[in-house]
Amino acid sequence: MIFIFSGPSGVGKSTIIDAIRQKRDFQFSVSYTSRNIREGEYNGEDYNFVSESDFLKLVEDDFFIEYEKYGRNYYGTSRNSVNDSTNSLILDLEVNGATKLLSSNKDYVGIFIDIDDKELIQRLTKRGHDEAFIDERMRLAEYQRSFRDKFHYKVDNKDINTTVNKILDIIYSLEER
Ligand code: 5GP
Repeated sequence: MIFIFSGPSGVGKSTIIDAIRQKRDFQFSVSYTSRNIREGEYNGEDYNFVSESDFLKLVEDDFFIEYEKYGRNYYGTSRNSVNDSTNSLILDLEVNGATKLLSSNKDYVGIFIDIDDKELIQRLTKRGHDEAFIDERMRLAEYQRSFRDKFHYKVDNKDINTTVNKILDIIYSLEER
């Protein structure tokens, strides 16, 4: 099974995916991106970091099953990572790429992780962002939520452990079918 995780920016998707992978052995699709590597990230583990021109060459070669420009950077999922997966696979995608794949005819399971506005504001404030940045993020979250109904499952992330358990329950119930 292939699980597509998406949701508003800042919802805590990567933390949730890491926690799920610690509890169960899922494959994770390592995307390609043209953005700069951040402190604490590893090439080939968090992303395959490539230059913008190399990314665009890969696009021309039809290397990606989906790709998007998000902010100023490109992000894409290689066809191989999806086609060669032998185990349950997790994809972490922004909403446009996620819904494109979900509307294709493959059997993807879409999980939309959401967060309430108050919680999102609190998180962004804690990270030291100013009001203008927070307003922009809230508008973005509203746009991202407009894709919510295109996902099979919606989970509100109030508390990480509860969220992880809810998602694992969803996955186990699907596997029992
Ligand atoms: P970040 O730069 O914070 O790591 O990621 C920004 C956004 O890009 C996140 O919402 C993440 O889910 C999304 N993303 C990561 N990889 C891919 C990908 O391969 N395709 C698409 N469409 N989005 C991706």
